[in-house]
Amino acid sequence: MCGIIGYLGYREVYPILINGLKKLEYRGYDSSGISIFYKNGYSLFKTKGKVNDLEKKIDFLKKKNKLNGTVGIGHTRWATHGEPNDVNAHPHVSNSNNIVMIHNGIIENYHSIKIFLLKNGFTFNSKTDTEVLVNLIEYIKYENNLSLEEAVRISLNETIGAYSIAILEKSNPETIIIAKLGSPLIIGIGKEEFFIASDPIPFINYTKNVIYMKDGEMAILKKNKELDLRKIINNHKLHPIIKKLKINLEEIEKGEYKHFMLKEIYEQPKTILDTLRGRLLISNEIIYINGIKSNKEKFINATSIIIVACGTSWHAGLIGEYLLEKYTRIPVEVEYASEFIYRNPILSKKDIVIVISQSGETADTLSALKLAKKRGVFVFGICNVVGSSIARNVNAGVYIHAGPEIGVASTKAFTSQITILTLIALKIAKYKSTIDNFFYKKICKELSLIPEKISHIINNHNSIKNISNKLYYINNFIYLGRGINFPVALEGALKLKEISYIHAEGLPAAEMKHGPMALIDENIPVIVIALIKSNCYKKILNNIQEIKARKGKIIALINEEDVQVQMLADYVIKIPNTVEELSPLITAIPLQLLAYQIASLRGKNIDQPRNLAKSVTVE
Ligand code: GLU
Repeated sequence: MCGIIGYLGYREVYPILINGLKKLEYRGYDSSGISIFYKNGYSLFKTKGKVNDLEKKIDFLKKKNKLNGTVGIGHTRWATHGEPNDVNAHPHVSNSNNIVMIHNGIIENYHSIKIFLLKNGFTFNSKTDTEVLVNLIEYIKYENNLSLEEAVRISLNETIGAYSIAILEKSNPETIIIAKLGSPLIIGIGKEEFFIASDPIPFINYTKNVIYMKDGEMAILKKNKELDLRKIINNHKLHPIIKKLKINLEEIEKGEYKHFMLKEIYEQPKTILDTLRGRLLISNEIIYINGIKSNKEKFINATSIIIVACGTSWHAGLIGEYLLEKYTRIPVEVEYASEFIYRNPILSKKDIVIVISQSGETADTLSALKLAKKRGVFVFGICNVVGSSIARNVNAGVYIHAGPEIGVASTKAFTSQITILTLIALKIAKYKSTIDNFFYKKICKELSLIPEKISHIINNHNSIKNISNKLYYINNFIYLGRGINFPVALEGALKLKEISYIHAEGLPAAEMKHGPMALIDENIPVIVIALIKSNCYKKILNNIQEIKARKGKIIALINEEDVQVQMLADYVIKIPNTVEELSPLITAIPLQLLAYQIASLRGKNIDQPRNLAKSVTVE
């Protein structure tokens, strides 16, 4: 997974590449590189580390006019083959130095191709699959005396895996060839200029006319020529469909916040409102979701629903399971996408698969989607990124409209996913008459009050800061919840792991006595979600007693009116009350803030934690 960018036109390319790569760093940031083409050759710079490191290394060349040029490509990497270092960074060049390429994805059969090329005298500098592909292209080109585009096309038909690539040739510096299968690639069309990137944000200042390339397509971009779009498999010419983008640039900037993650936590009252906008018509208690309405019969007659997702989206799926089963009485299973695809899942034609992915590019989830569709099962998608691969491939779906999420640790997308799942569950329940009307109205009303309650937590979170100050140096945490708040405990633990590198475990509170209780001593903080309206409140009180008896430190999330837990806990975080089904929307917020504060006190790189990337486009 990585970010790729390219430009061909009349502007100076260096700032477009460097600034574009900075905007794409959420996709990968272990090394980066650029290549600029001019009449008699090209320059290539790459280095381990962030785009800033690359910039520091080469910016002085600007003054010497050594970065001039109007054609170029750039890459910010998240390694899959070969450790992050200078040599493995992209762009990669072929043995003759004539062909230069950047690549996002994985060439699965790179090993057998590499052996073949080694036998034919090729040598390799890096450990990447990318260098293998660029040399296969070279081999096919020179062996058969082909044009670069033809060699690219034939080579891609020999490869298995996923890619979005951009390739240039020294002898033809005014042509970029691009191709896509499985990884995202978008073309921006300006006047006498082309942009390419993994998402449109890097070029949105220049043009809003875009082509979302489809899997199996390649394009030849030439200076002062029309774009030439083709099918990789048979070279058939395709008619490009140009769309107009609607993205607000301000939305993707950090503003006054120290980190995107903090900005995104604070945005949640607004993002939840945006998710509800046009869907929850509170004045007449109507829920409207087009993708559900137009497939009403399918949802009414569904024998079961299988929710497939990864990471935080999987936690949202677990909350969705609780809501869907409770309101609609349809049996629900929640699967990790990566497991689902390799265990020949039992699916019947009347089942519905719901895939959840913030980026809409999660490779495991995309594969699950394809598997379900192949089996003839109706797939419904819940995504944030408009026009993403998952959004384009599902039978129907809904966008959460949380806006661009840049922080690697997902926050606002999580609460918007839960919000949408709540609306979906209520809508299906209404169709099936499995929900009492009074109760339905009550939930709708409560849902509309959630943004205000989240604002209250955000504006009054001193207790969280104090607790973080006391606990940030500890290396193990336990998070406990029950019922619908068990997945929130999992999510709280995941947030802490992701950004502070502290080991944390989420568990259903009652499971403690079946093993994990052995971990408890005076050093381990146990964060317990203990809401007074929960039907497990009394049981949670017992669980807390059991931990206290073994000297564990209790940090409890409680409602303002609570007395009993407050008496037992070492620290409390007070949160507003709501109905139990909606409580994850409230309980998630302090746990996000706690993880943020602790990571901040530990001085971690919060928006770009080590070893992670925002959208996981490899399996
Ligand atoms: N497989 C390539 C590599 O390891 C590309 C990874 C990426 O998408 O960044 O370099």
